[in-house]
Amino acid sequence: MSDIRYPQNNDLRCLVHFCAEKGLIWLDESRMILMHAAALSELRKELINSVGIDQARRILTRMGYAAGSRDAELAKKIRVGQSLQDAFVVGPQLHMLEGMVHVSPVSLDVDLEKGHFAGEFIWENSCEAEVHVREFGHAEHPVCWMEIGYASGYTSAFMGRFILFKEVECAATGNNQCRIVGKPVDEWPDAAEHTPFYEADSIVGRMLELSSQVDALRASLERSLPCQNLIGASAGFRHAYSLIEKAAATQVTVLLLGETGVGKERFARALHAMSGRANNPFVAINCAALPHDLIESELFGVEKGAFTGAQVSRMGKFERADGGTLFLDEIGELPLAAQAKLLRVLQEGEIERLGDDRTRKINVRLVAATNVDLQAAVKAGRFRSDLYYRLNVYPVLIPPLRDRLSDIPLLVESMLQRFGALHGKRVPGLTDKALRALKGHTWPGNIRELENLIERGMILAPQNEPIEVEHLFAEPQEFEAVRHGIDATGNLAAAPGTSDREVLCRQVMQAGISLDELEQALIQHAVKEAGGNLSGAARRLGITRPQLNYRLKKKE
Ligand SMILES: [Zn+2]
Repeated sequence: MSDIRYPQNNDLRCLVHFCAEKGLIWLDESRMILMHAAALSELRKELINSVGIDQARRILTRMGYAAGSRDAELAKKIRVGQSLQDAFVVGPQLHMLEGMVHVSPVSLDVDLEKGHFAGEFIWENSCEAEVHVREFGHAEHPVCWMEIGYASGYTSAFMGRFILFKEVECAATGNNQCRIVGKPVDEWPDAAEHTPFYEADSIVGRMLELSSQVDALRASLERSLPCQNLIGASAGFRHAYSLIEKAAATQVTVLLLGETGVGKERFARALHAMSGRANNPFVAINCAALPHDLIESELFGVEKGAFTGAQVSRMGKFERADGGTLFLDEIGELPLAAQAKLLRVLQEGEIERLGDDRTRKINVRLVAATNVDLQAAVKAGRFRSDLYYRLNVYPVLIPPLRDRLSDIPLLVESMLQRFGALHGKRVPGLTDKALRALKGHTWPGNIRELENLIERGMILAPQNEPIEVEHLFAEPQEFEAVRHGIDATGNLAAAPGTSDREVLCRQVMQAGISLDELEQALIQHAVKEAGGNLSGAARRLGITRPQLNYRLKKKE
């Protein structure tokens, strides 16, 4: 056969992690499943019987293609610095590791720069050939569709151009093995017979009909959710949203409750946009951000000469918001004197500027928000109870992000679009593992924290590559319990890179500390901890006193 040899696959095997406790298997950052070949066989049979052999082939080919292109992403980063051939055979090696088929290279000629590719491989133990023969008997034509899809998908993603693989012999037709040949699609004279199986829209009529129904449903959903800024589909979110929607049609004062960072101002803006006041101003003010002695003039305005420094008359926020909505964030921080004035404004519907004896009618809907317990503030005498009752007519609790984790993918998608436009960068999303890490986080800072992480991840991830866990979190995430990998004998073993010691070693290596430096640092540390007592230090290091002496001398 050929002289092409595979490198050891340790680097690939140690990317496989089993976390049975969490119901997860990983191949690096991609979630995998251990599936019965019999289930695949059943799927194949169902597909062939229900949509016909061509559609079944198309679906399975595309399924393999998707898997292959994912593995190519991995190949690009796993054997950096090794020969192009070693980098390329990550694909065949993973195809074997994933249990689909045994792959032996016959010939392989790859030139990334020229875009040249020619490859021939022998397949043995093809999973698809086996299940096909078991279910349908010997076939007339090759049947390893998913596997050929994988080879095409992997190679196309690796090469950055469409490389079409064809099965020129198949074990299912009575051969001992399958044989596959791949080259750029335009070098195949009969490419047109194969490419339709890679296309998304070979059409089953009913699918079209369904998809137009989906469009109609989506359009009606968009009508009912006019605020693109508010994103979510979880029960908690929808409940808060429906309360806001009902309030929008009325003039009721709304009190938004929730932790810092849950997006209270967005809800206030949404309420405004859905209300009859939408064409009038929305004015927001954060009571905690203003010095106490300025709050009243900011809210109610000031008349020239009202106090030293008031050289011109100025409108307050209430007047600016006339006809529209005034959003008072962190209302719990409002000083008592201002609380009294606010209460009067709410009762009378009119304001008085500071230093003015005229009253002015105003028509403003108030939306207040707080992240403190106002009832407790009332008890403590920091908040007027009459104002509290006036504000608490229609409280809406906005759930913290940890109670709406299922919204994270939706939120992330919209943030990626927003930050992508902002930073002129495109990333295709998050890896499975990164998404999983987000769902495992407790989110003390809520949506705002998520925004910060996504923005950071977007900046750190390479252009056109998905955001990985390490782009999001500076600290390693402990969101998984014990992990297992596969050792050289194919058995489950504790995964590398997960023990404390592994983490420590990695940190030491990354910091560029030499072995000698590390030894000296450890000894100094032990001596210090032992209060200068060398015997104590030796005990801590698990060596004898003479051994310690020897090592200390070595330094000099
Ligand atoms: Zn085959």
